[in-house]
Parts: sequence; structure tokens; C-alpha cells
Amino acid sequence: MTRYVVVGTGVAGVAAVCSLRKLDGSAEIIMVGDDPHGFYSRPGLAYYMSGEIPEEQLTIFTKEDWKPLKIRFIKGIATGLDPKKRQLEFSPAGVLKYDRLLLATGSTAVALTIPGANLQGVVKLDDYEDTRRILSLARRAKSAVVVGGGIIAVELVEGLMRRGVKVHYFLRGERYWPNVLDENESRLLEHRLSEDGAKLHFQTEAAEVLGKHGKVVGVRTTKGETIRCEIVAVGIGVKLRLGLAKAAGLATEKGILTDENLQTSDPDIFAAGDVAQVRDPESGKSFVDTLWHPARVKGKIAALNMTGRRTPYKRKVSVNVLRLAGVMTTIIGAVGSGVDDDLVSVARGSSESWQQLPNTMALESNTEVNHVRLMIGEQTLLGAMVMGEQKLSQPLQEIISSKADITPVRHLFQPGAPLGEIVMDFWASIRG
Ligand SMILES: Cc1cc2nc3c(=O)[nH]c(=O)nc-3n(C[C@H](O)[C@H](O)[C@H](O)COP(=O)(O)OP(=O)(O)OC[C@H]3O[C@@H](n4cnc5c(N)ncnc54)[C@H](O)[C@@H]3O)c2cc1C
Repeated sequence: MTRYVVVGTGVAGVAAVCSLRKLDGSAEIIMVGDDPHGFYSRPGLAYYMSGEIPEEQLTIFTKEDWKPLKIRFIKGIATGLDPKKRQLEFSPAGVLKYDRLLLATGSTAVALTIPGANLQGVVKLDDYEDTRRILSLARRAKSAVVVGGGIIAVELVEGLMRRGVKVHYFLRGERYWPNVLDENESRLLEHRLSEDGAKLHFQTEAAEVLGKHGKVVGVRTTKGETIRCEIVAVGIGVKLRLGLAKAAGLATEKGILTDENLQTSDPDIFAAGDVAQVRDPESGKSFVDTLWHPARVKGKIAALNMTGRRTPYKRKVSVNVLRLAGVMTTIIGAVGSGVDDDLVSVARGSSESWQQLPNTMALESNTEVNHVRLMIGEQTLLGAMVMGEQKLSQPLQEIISSKADITPVRHLFQPGAPLGEIVMDFWASIRG
């Protein structure tokens, strides 16, 4: 009987164990995870924080769903890995032998490192416990400072405001999320946040968190200003959880390096989810995506490979559908300027490919909050940003991911052109 051990109870780990069970009914499958809440929707945490979904909706698998999978769970943290002995150590004290191991250890929020960062009231939005902590603090707090430039920071701003907390939002640069959004998009979202009551502080960083009796009472900025607040919420990027892999001598860069079959530098160890830096057979480059859906797919593909069914992970065009400052937004493929203005380059719910600078022409059309921007390559559309009205989202996902040849219509993409009509007509033509 083969023994599969999976470290991490996030979506990648869970997708892997579901597939492993389907592929091998008699296998012994063991999951090791250090999150006391097990498996839940991490993207859902922001909506739970803002009060838009009840806590129960974060649960994805019920006890009844788990039962037929016959999985043994170990609540603990994997602390050591010996690939030669095929052995995993975990705390509280334990050792597990494995035949095949999956590392699905995910990513975790980067912490603030300025003086006062350990005071009670400095929070992040990373897991279930963080969210509960924020909600508990928000019940008594009048003001908060939010620090960070990507999706999570804005989710913190919105969530705290919805809980009745006055928010000061610190942005390091001159505008919001410049490595992914263009100036119009940044301004649109900034305007929405201000209208909802947030006070935006541009070119402002926190220099020190001020405290009294161990609790946050304010922030001193790099400009020397003091802002009174009881919460400092931090969304400055994520770091991949590479500790185990590194200590075991596996090849790592930004993530755990794998080939297209999600196999690491050790043939019995595989990696999936946020933590995996997977080689793309088409380009030969390796990529990190910190997105829910790719994590799930990688988990499934890893399971196939762990059971000996060699199956490459085919990286799809990355898509994220989310709400930013109340505006429904779909980000497809390569859209960014490549300017790295985040404190770290890996952001939650994001893909490296967004930040690549394609050789493209960018074209956009706007009507207040309804906005579309296309990144137009020589023969294909490389990326799109759709904000507000989402009618174009699905057609653009299909056009971009199928790499449809746009040569016959490329001349139509002119400044001021009705982009929506052109896209819909072209989509209809390729669907036949
Ligand atoms: C607030 C928030 C909003 C998000 N929004 C979006 C979004 O809009 N769209 C999107 O696509 N994605 C979003 N994401 C990102 C998405 O949730 C992740 O891409 C996804 O959860 C990755 O899954 P994973 O299984 O690879 O890793 P994780 O979900 O990070 O799970 C890894 C698990 O492994 C455990 N673990 C790690 N190391 C060890 C160890 N040594 N021993 C034991 N256990 C260990 C961790 O505790 C964790 O439970 C969001 C994430 C957050 C937190």
C-alpha cells in the first residue's frame, strides 16, 4: 500500500488528496496542517470581514464530504524533512515515513518590521484567526491605518470602513497599485475609496507604530505626522512558505522549483499551489501564481504525477475576478507596467504574468466606472482589465486564452474605437 503524505490543508493540498483517493482507492493518505481551522475559503475572508457573507459560508467541505475520502489528519506543523530517509518530522513530536510527499505549504503575509509592529492592534488578513481578530478589534476601534498597495490592502480598507471604522490609507507611491493598474484605473479606485470615506495619504509610509500599555494608539509617518488609531492593518505582500523545502536541500528560487509535472528536485517530492514555482514547457520559464484556481489545478495535477501518471501542468492565462473598492474587476493575462512598487513583488490573489511588460499597445475605453483596457500584441490580445460592467469579461477570457489571431481586426483597434463592439463581433466570429 502506497503512503501519500500531503503538507498543507489549503486548496492545493485538498485538491490533491481528493484526486489521490479517486486514483488509488487503497492508498494511505495523510494530511499535515497547522491551521486549526483546516480548509476554508481564503478569498472569502475579506467578504466575511466586511459582513457580506456569514462565517459558515467560509466552510467548503463538511464532515460528510471528508468521510468517504478516508484521510488521516495530523494537526501540527511539519518541521523537518529528510528526502534520503523519505521522512517528515512534525511538531508536536512525531515522524512520518512517506512513499510520495506533496508540499502544498502556500504563502503567508509579510509582516511589518518597523518599531511597534508587535503591539496589540497590528493585524494582517491572512487566515481565519486574523479575520476574527480584526472583527473583534473593529468593534471598539474608531480609526485604523491601512498599509500596502495591492488587493488585500484595499480589502482591509473596505472591510474596516464597513465595520464603521474611520480609515487612513497609506500608499508608498503617487497612486494605487501602479504595477498592475494604469493611471486611470488607479484614480477610479482611489476616487471610490475616498467617496466611501477613506482618507488616502500618498507617498506616505509608517515609520513607527505608537503604543500605550502594549496597544496601538497611533502611527508616526515618515513625514513626521502622527495619526491616532487603534488598528494598523497590513497588506504588503506575501512570502511563500519555503522553509521545509529549503532546509531539506530542495531546489528553490522564489518558490519550490518544479518541472512541468510538479516534481521537485527530489523525485519523490512534489509541490503544488502558491508555493510551487512551476516550469512552463512552452516558454521554458518558471512562474509563481498566488491564485486560488491555479492552486487547485496544480493540486490535482500533482496527484496524477504522484501516482505515476505523468501529466504536465499547462499554465493557463491567469484570471482573477474580484471586487476592488466596490467595482467588479476582472484581470486577465498580462496587464501591468512591470514597475515594482509593492514592498514585495508577490501579492495575494495575483499572478507574476500580470507584471510582465508585453510588447503591446494599450487601448482603453471608459464610461465612469465601466472601463475596459486591452493589451494588444502583434497577433493576439495579451491581456485585459475589465472594470464595472462585466459583459466583456468572458469573451475576453476566451479570446486571450485561446490566443486567437486578431490580425484580421487589429486595424480596428484605434483610439476612440468602440472596443466593446469590436470584441463582441470578433468573439462571435471565432466561435463560428
Ligand atoms: C484574504 C485573501 C484574499 C484572497 N483573494 C484571492 C482572490 O480574490 N483570488 C484568488 O485567486 N486568490 C485569492 N487569494 C489567494 C488564495 O487564497 C491562494 O492562492 C490559495 O489559498 C493558495 O492555496 P494553497 O493551498 O497553495 O496555499 P494556502 O491556502 O496558503 O494553504 C497552505 C496551508 O499549508 C499550511 N502550512 C504551511 N506550512 C506548513 C507546515 N510546515 N506544516 C503544516 N502546515 C503548513 C498553512 O497553514 C495553510 O493551511 C486570497 C487570499 C487571502 C488570504
